[in-house]
Amino acid sequence: MPRKNPSEALRAICYGQDMTEPPAPSARRGAVIFDRDGVLNHEVGFAHRPDQITWIPGALSAVKAVNDAGLFAFVATNQSGVARGLYTEADVVTLHAWMNGQLAEVGAHIDAFVYSPYHPEAPLDAYRRDSDCRKPGPGLIRRLLADWPVDPGRVCLIGDRETDMAAARAAGIEGVLFTGGDLGETVAPVIARLTA
Ligand SMILES: [Mg+2]
Repeated sequence: MPRKNPSEALRAICYGQDMTEPPAPSARRGAVIFDRDGVLNHEVGFAHRPDQITWIPGALSAVKAVNDAGLFAFVATNQSGVARGLYTEADVVTLHAWMNGQLAEVGAHIDAFVYSPYHPEAPLDAYRRDSDCRKPGPGLIRRLLADWPVDPGRVCLIGDRETDMAAARAAGIEGVLFTGGDLGETVAPVIARLTA
């Protein structure tokens, strides 16, 4: 997808899929950045196929609520299974497209998925890197903020691990820990703050 203002330095080290066309920079909006495994879908360890995805209760409607509030909905996910040779980047991309298909059935969507395929001790040479994009690094978040017209004062990352919170801090945005249950109960107050 062509970009008016690509962040080439970040693009070289972070990967992602834009599912919608970014709006004009004048249309700055707040954003909710979801971690994937353990937040949108149950953590099963290196999920890479649709049959391994069980949505967290309330996840689909929570994404729709973010969409309906006029906020961007992003996913930022560590996918070191690529570096470990367990699955490929094509598998990641295909799975994310499938997830957006599931979301579409309730009228919801993720605007962009970004992922880090790296691991510092990867068996695959191409992915053995101590990357800033691997959370707790801020690279994935920074890429989203660089590529999309996000209001930097209205951004929140929702994650289930301390590494997610550390990534949010490193990027200078709010982090909210999801501790289980219905995701909507965690997302609703976030939406209220970001749209206040
Ligand atoms: Mg997680």
